[in-house]
Amino acid sequence: ALMTGEQYIESIRKMNMQVYMFGKKVDCPVDDPILRPSLNSVRMTYDLAQMPEYQDLMTAISPETGKVINRFTHIHRSTGDLVKKVKMQRLLGQKTAACFQRCVGMDAFNAVYSTTYETDKKYGTHYHDNFVKFMLYVQEHDLTVDGAMTDPKGDRSKAPHEQADPDIFLRVVERRPDGIVVRGAKAHQTGVLNSHEVIVMPTISMKPKDKDYAVSFAVPMDTPGIYMIIGRQSCDTRKTEGSEMDVGNAEFGGVEALTVFDDVFVPNDRIFQNGETEFSGMMVERFAGYHRQSYGGCKVGVGDVLIGAAAVAADYNGAAKASHVKDKLIEMTHLNETLYCCGIACSAEGHPTESGAYLIDLLLANVCKQNVTRFPYEIVRLAEDIAGGLMVTAPSEADFRDPKLGPVIEKYLKGVNGVSTENRLRILRLIENLALGTAAVGYRTESMHGAGSPQAQRIMTAR
Ligand code: SF4
Ligand code: FE
Repeated sequence: ALMTGEQYIESIRKMNMQVYMFGKKVDCPVDDPILRPSLNSVRMTYDLAQMPEYQDLMTAISPETGKVINRFTHIHRSTGDLVKKVKMQRLLGQKTAACFQRCVGMDAFNAVYSTTYETDKKYGTHYHDNFVKFMLYVQEHDLTVDGAMTDPKGDRSKAPHEQADPDIFLRVVERRPDGIVVRGAKAHQTGVLNSHEVIVMPTISMKPKDKDYAVSFAVPMDTPGIYMIIGRQSCDTRKTEGSEMDVGNAEFGGVEALTVFDDVFVPNDRIFQNGETEFSGMMVERFAGYHRQSYGGCKVGVGDVLIGAAAVAADYNGAAKASHVKDKLIEMTHLNETLYCCGIACSAEGHPTESGAYLIDLLLANVCKQNVTRFPYEIVRLAEDIAGGLMVTAPSEADFRDPKLGPVIEKYLKGVNGVSTENRLRILRLIENLALGTAAVGYRTESMHGAGSPQAQRIMTAR
């Protein structure tokens, strides 16, 4: 059955996850002021699925069980499904102005589903059965799943087995009759601490000598041996100061963590790849392709918020009628909708894999992501142009609330009549948040390197 947002939060609260931040263990990540906004973003994937007006985008009928499931746990069965996925992501980007994290699991689901099918066909293994069993469990309980691909990679010129530290790529360190023991780490893990389960996949295509590194599996996030070290975000500690205004987006955010697998046991029925090196590349290519498609949805939704905020800032400055401001808003919209065109195009041009799961057009998905490495930067540049310098020089909320300083700020930082200085400062803080605060992690640098750095897309384009 579908979970409500509240049930989701309580289900994560019950898990015994090992989370570290600022040199300390976080006792209750769910209630931590720095981490909580990221949980709220995932929660939105549950809340919207409850609303009748969003059900077409947010849910799907499971072909296996005939039950209503959250689209984030669905295997795409048509180009229509692929298009709806992108539209759902744009909607969630608009609602949160942040990364809502649940897509990595959805993209891993679809990549692992089709890859295990083809692996079994060649080797007579049972990975696809294992995966389908896991998938049905996730659908039934409406779980959030992290998709963990990126290994730290050490010396980029060397293969996994050639690295000075053999753990720098995640690997199998022990094979037992009942399962395997793995060791390694996955970097930049988006939303990992807000996930019930994690699907681990290899990070590059492998040669036979890298057999121990060609491994894919799923385990619950509170499995013994797993721990997370939270990544700092620009301006993160503003969230601990108690000012809603100064954080720009007080309710929503994203989160990433270095996730360590310190000799973690994986039972046989949770293994989806174990030494079949020739299928590592397929899993990587498909996951990356789906996630490059994803950015043609989520980044566009966040872009919608930024364009809207810039337009509001222009209104508040009294500059909305200036022709150059109008033209900058048009340019931002043009760039944002171009990204959306790419997300929709690679979906509409999708095709079925042997398993029946639909894959996007990989060339178009890579073109989509390559544009995402550029356009959000230009959209941010134009937003800063329109916003003006006050987005980085405005005093704090504490000064604004001060009996002596407040009226002075009120007087001198006022824009057009009829708009409060407070509202003007709030919209500028939202732009700051997206341009260079906590949300810039997702909107800027993740647009560059998430789902693969620019050169990875150029390699695919060349192919
Ligand atoms: Fe989803 Fe976008 Fe966040 Fe990736 S960056 S998890 S696609 S919202
Ligand atoms: Fe991402």
